[in-house]
Amino acid sequence: MTDNAAVSRFLPDEEATLALGAEWAQSLAAPLVVYLQGDLGAGKTTFTRGLLRGLRHEGAVKSPTYAIVESYPFDGFTLHHFDLYRFSMPEEWEDAGLDDLFGADCVCLIEWPQQGGEFTPAADITVSLEHAGEGRRFTAAAHTDKGRKSLEAWLN
Ligand code: ADP
Ligand code: MG
Repeated sequence: MTDNAAVSRFLPDEEATLALGAEWAQSLAAPLVVYLQGDLGAGKTTFTRGLLRGLRHEGAVKSPTYAIVESYPFDGFTLHHFDLYRFSMPEEWEDAGLDDLFGADCVCLIEWPQQGGEFTPAADITVSLEHAGEGRRFTAAAHTDKGRKSLEAWLN
């Protein structure tokens, strides 16, 4: 995979989105920041649910649309799942104290990262989901060495 190379897949149904997320669990390593891009209903939360399933999380996975962040502790790292959709201005990032959640031991998945403006930490990987007929088009791109290694281990 070359610099900024993007990997693309067609996901015909929800189960395919869950399965792709679950496959990533094997090669996930903290610290990592992942942006989840796509319209409402594109599958960002479904993808996260699949990843958590792959990590053997057994409880519910709620969309963080209202709470802004849901956190899941695992051995060696914590997965934070953010959704900034309801931010009315980027400063809410600071008001909510979200910087405190970023560290060496976290994997952070962020829906609607653009809503946090310059407060949102830079991404190692951007995952995009788009409606494509009855299914979804998945694209992932790496922006750092760390992100590239993770994508290679996951998708090759
Ligand atoms: P988002 O978090 O992007 O707003 P959600 O994951 O909450 O979206 O909702 C996505 C919706 O699309 C769910 O109803 C889910 O069942 C469905 N879905 C997820 N992946 C696919 C897919 N590959 N093909 C068709 N429907 C999908
Ligand atoms: Mg969502």
